[in-house]
Amino acid sequence: MSEHAAAMSPDFVREALKQVRYPGFSRDIVSFGLVKQIDCQAGSTTVKIEVATRDPKVPQQIFEQCHQVLDALPDIGAVKIDIDVKDAPASGAAAGSAVGTSSIPGVQKIIAVASGKGGVGKSTVASNLAIALAAAGARVGLCDCDLYGPSMAQMFAVREKPMANEQDEIIPIEAHGLQLMSMGFLLDDRSPVIVRGPMATRYIQQFLRQVAWDSLDFLVLDLPPGTGDIQLTIVQTVRVDGCIIVTTPQEVALIDARKAVSMFAKVNVPILGLIENMAWFECDAGKRYPIFGENGGVKEAEFLGIPLLGQIPIDIETRSRGDRGEPVALLDESLNPVSRAFHQIAGQIRDRLSLLENATS
Ligand code: ADP
Repeated sequence: MSEHAAAMSPDFVREALKQVRYPGFSRDIVSFGLVKQIDCQAGSTTVKIEVATRDPKVPQQIFEQCHQVLDALPDIGAVKIDIDVKDAPASGAAAGSAVGTSSIPGVQKIIAVASGKGGVGKSTVASNLAIALAAAGARVGLCDCDLYGPSMAQMFAVREKPMANEQDEIIPIEAHGLQLMSMGFLLDDRSPVIVRGPMATRYIQQFLRQVAWDSLDFLVLDLPPGTGDIQLTIVQTVRVDGCIIVTTPQEVALIDARKAVSMFAKVNVPILGLIENMAWFECDAGKRYPIFGENGGVKEAEFLGIPLLGQIPIDIETRSRGDRGEPVALLDESLNPVSRAFHQIAGQIRDRLSLLENATS
């Protein structure tokens, strides 16, 4: 045996496997707790890995990277990588998160959708992701936290006012299988909100805690645009499991998206990834026009070291269906590329949340 033989221990192999990053993350597969067993025999090494995902590319990439790293070790012998792929659960509950760990009663996992700048499509993304998460079998709530410009009533064509239960909690309104709540449901269309500063923060804290969510796997919080006190209060009031940043490819939006990323990093909220909305417009002839610039979000995600969850084109149906309360993700994925993109992104979000849970449990 050569001088390296003594070092070929499971610990040595585990150390080497720390070079293998989980696809789309800066963290490695060892720290995520995916490496379940390492068996070193004379002339052979077997590594057992467990991963929960619905994306076949993930185990494939891990497999290839593990081989790349381990095959390069001297004296390792034959390398066998066994990957046990489990289906990522459609619901937070099935992912094994304990009941009551969330600071909002009745909710398993909280996902915040944020943007630095307004008008980039944050609410459109939040609504469609909520629909796509629910389509995979989860119980999903969507909460519009914008005091000053709530848009959910329009996006879901909600006309009624919510009722209160015996505990004086507000009962969410149901539409398209989602439980919905918005400050806008409680206000008159014509009356602007005049609370500012500390009053506004107290208002939103109370609002977040006084909704009677009914056994949700996921609650999607549509945050107000910006990175000020209100946003910070929300992410500190409730335990957010992960956040998504929405931006257009345009520089002015990217600058603000960067601020949002740094806000979440400061309060230790895991960033699930970035979505580039309004990425291009495709005309009938199939030519793509990058109206707000090309790949700005893609480059930004790379620069910030966060996953790019997807690119959503400018799409007339997305706008018109949003305006009439029928979000585009309700359409069959085969009929509309934007619907397909939202369903695909929802799958990634489920994967990432269960991965993070795996890493912390
Ligand atoms: P925000 O929440 O960031 O203020 P909204 O989701 O309200 O943004 O979107 C602003 C406007 O842009 C809305 O009229 C919405 O229908 C439209 N919009 C958002 N995303 C798209 C898209 N991908 N294609 C076409 N219109 C979009």
